[in-house]
Amino acid sequence: MTIENYANFKKVFVQKIHAHWLTNKNITLHVLRLDVLHPVVSGNKWFKLQYYLQDATAKNYTAIATFGGAYSNHILATAYACKQQGFNCIGIIRGEEAKVLSHTLVQAKSLGMELQFVTREAYKNKEAIQHQAPNIYWIGEGGYGALGMQGATDIVKLVPDLDQYTHIICAIGTGTTLAGIVAAATHQKVIGISVMKGNSELHQHIASLLNEDDKLKNWEIDHNYHFGGYAKYNNALLQYMREVWHQYQLPTDFVYTAKAMFATEHLIKQELISRQSAILLIHTGGLQGNASLPAGTLPF
Ligand SMILES: *Cc1c(COP(=O)(O)O)cnc(C)c1O
Repeated sequence: MTIENYANFKKVFVQKIHAHWLTNKNITLHVLRLDVLHPVVSGNKWFKLQYYLQDATAKNYTAIATFGGAYSNHILATAYACKQQGFNCIGIIRGEEAKVLSHTLVQAKSLGMELQFVTREAYKNKEAIQHQAPNIYWIGEGGYGALGMQGATDIVKLVPDLDQYTHIICAIGTGTTLAGIVAAATHQKVIGISVMKGNSELHQHIASLLNEDDKLKNWEIDHNYHFGGYAKYNNALLQYMREVWHQYQLPTDFVYTAKAMFATEHLIKQELISRQSAILLIHTGGLQGNASLPAGTLPF
């Protein structure tokens, strides 16, 4: 099923950022706004899911299950996509059930996802969990895998005039999306901003999704912009998000896209991205995650 089949999906677009720190280095920065796709399944998650759902349909599965934490955009996107396509859906959630469910889990549940909470210890052994339910179509945590990466290549196909860009930048969780971007890149340098602290396995995880030719393309992971680790933030990051909103009307999420935007600006100012570059930043969505911040933290 393509985006057009979803009546309530909006058209993504490219936003040009106007700023002194760009013009004074003769750099252009465009943001691919995947966040506008849909309020619930915004961003890269729907792209990563589409071929898994197709595969599950082709193999006559009626139920889909996947893994994630209490704030996982992937859990919510899976719940939504399964409802759309008529699959029963189970979310294996890391950790004990909280007295008050997160905003993400409340939404996933209301979309019909059955939530199964497992201890952090049990969660580590995903194969054992999958083994107990062989009649279910299992999607890896975060949509990691070959079909997820194939779906992510479709993101790049949406970009008008791709060849004008010298760089593509994107936040990384599992690396599935980055792998798809690398596979679909023509000549661009692809930079992934890891949102985890010192995730040393990331390079291998991404490389193992790429074929031999794509592995040799110009791509790298930057580990310097995690702000303390996955889903960690500080006042400087929140302040930066407010500024980005006021100056460019660009909403970001504190887990992924704010860190990617911050990194982009910093790399440019440090001249780690050279003058005259034409950069495409992928806004991977995920704005629903901001609902876990205290009310009133952000102006959008
Ligand atoms: C999940 C997510 C990512 C990371 O995607 P991966 O394919 O796991 O690397 C980036 N941005 C947002 C907003 C996400 O929700």
